[in-house]
Amino acid sequence: MYEGVNASEGIGIGTVMVAVDPDLSFEAHQVDDPAAEKERYQAALSVFCEKTQAQADHMKETVGEAEAEIMSGHILLAQDPGMTDQINGMIDGGSCAEQALVETSTMFENMFLSMDDEMFRLRAADIADIRTGILAELLGKEVIDLSVLPADTVIAVHDLTPSMTATIDHEHVAGIVTETGGRTSHSAIIARALEIPAVLSVPGICSALANGMTCIVDGTKGVVVPDPDEETLNGYRERAAALVAEKEALEAFRGKESVTADGIKKIVAANIGSPDDVEAALAHDAEAIGLFRSEFLFMDAKELPSEEDQFKAYRTVAEALKGAPVIIRTLDVGGDKAIPYLNMQEEENPFMGYRAVRYCLDNADQYKVQLRALLRASAFGDVKIMVPLVTCVEEIRQVKVLVEECKAELDAQGVAFNRDIEVGIMMETPAAANIADLLAKESAFFSIGTNDLTGYTMAADRGNDRVGYLYSWYYPAVLRSIKNIIESGVAAGIMVGMCGEAAADPLLDPLLISWGMEEFSMSAPSILRARKTISQWTKAEADELAERALACATAEEVKAVLEAAAR
Ligand code: PEP
Ligand code: MG
Repeated sequence: MYEGVNASEGIGIGTVMVAVDPDLSFEAHQVDDPAAEKERYQAALSVFCEKTQAQADHMKETVGEAEAEIMSGHILLAQDPGMTDQINGMIDGGSCAEQALVETSTMFENMFLSMDDEMFRLRAADIADIRTGILAELLGKEVIDLSVLPADTVIAVHDLTPSMTATIDHEHVAGIVTETGGRTSHSAIIARALEIPAVLSVPGICSALANGMTCIVDGTKGVVVPDPDEETLNGYRERAAALVAEKEALEAFRGKESVTADGIKKIVAANIGSPDDVEAALAHDAEAIGLFRSEFLFMDAKELPSEEDQFKAYRTVAEALKGAPVIIRTLDVGGDKAIPYLNMQEEENPFMGYRAVRYCLDNADQYKVQLRALLRASAFGDVKIMVPLVTCVEEIRQVKVLVEECKAELDAQGVAFNRDIEVGIMMETPAAANIADLLAKESAFFSIGTNDLTGYTMAADRGNDRVGYLYSWYYPAVLRSIKNIIESGVAAGIMVGMCGEAAADPLLDPLLISWGMEEFSMSAPSILRARKTISQWTKAEADELAERALACATAEEVKAVLEAAAR
């Protein structure tokens, strides 16, 4: 078994095809007729652009417009005057077209690689891809053709380039395994859009696999199992079949409202970490964004993202949601989320330390950069601000003072924003749960962060296996906290949602319905299933179950009661 990056979820079982790069080696030589050599280069470039355009057209129909644009971008990049002028210049100096192309493109590739911005680093992969394409044309070689494949193929490749992914015969691909590439690589984005299970960055996997071998790709867990025994294979086949059947049945809930069996309207929303995730959220029918973890913008950067960079990211999401609510959480740094350039001191107890809103209030000028970016984005959609790790009323009051200061600054500059922007609280500490009634008076909405609430309530670190048995939201202590938060919010007339993992737990849904929770926010693939579960319960039925669950003394009893009632 091999482990890698779980880049695109699902289970694929199939026959391995190791895609080997064509041999693109050449003898560099001096040319006597630069004009003819430049023509040869132009001809190769034209054929490359035609083929790439055909790939983009194919992709627009099979995958989507955004992905097709990645390919169209290749054409623009290949024709970029900066690059072609330099190539022609080298040919004029006597270089052969192959050498001029390789040297020039490598220089551009290195330049992009040295830049801090993730977008530019992605460009480096695009340049390498273009180089392979044009070089293959010059040498009269075919690049890897994945356009016609036998059914149930597991593709193993060193690096899945955007152009390979573009032409892929995706109906016949069971899974993708690569030796390089991360979750944000173009290949990963495309694999997710095609819903092909993919595990990336598995060192040495191309040598470990052989053509014709059976292989399991578990894109959900990021695991590759070559040559599985019969028992393992059957276990995965069952899981895969169950997933497929479940997914098909859930399609009936696409485009529908989220309502309980007796017609109470709910919202099923998506959690995202970057603007790139919005497409998947909408593809899975999210009605809103219930949590945008803004810290990923900070974690992916080498220095604090500017107000402008943040504004662009928030605005992109706000616009994509076309007026539907977008809850953006302000920087939740610390604990398990390290941001190296902030140079925060090591602490003995980081989860109880200088983090999230505590850090932000102590660095108010820096925090105001984010608040201003959020306010500016609020002119482009229904952006709401959410504050993490609140433990006392003072914190939310201080945040609101800063928001007002930012509003005054923007007014002075004549910049537009939503004057009535909502400021809400992430309910994820026992302190907040205990004063939910007081906090409800100070905030526009609550969103329950069960990931932290469970850990803090049970005083059990989620990452510590030895106390893992305590990390469960079925414990009465956690359930009572959740109930108190929801009921306090409902009593105060504010919206209450949940964005921790528990929101996607079908066993818990009836209890949340009973207590009056409105928004269920989760990772996008769980959305339709949640909508289905919500549709299966009336308030009265949920009340009856909630009463029985709350009468239990242990987590085990709670779970047994919920499981027995599950639909
Ligand atoms: C939570 O704590 O439940 C939550 C949603 O936030 P995070 O997982 O980012 O801490
Ligand atoms: Mg949290």
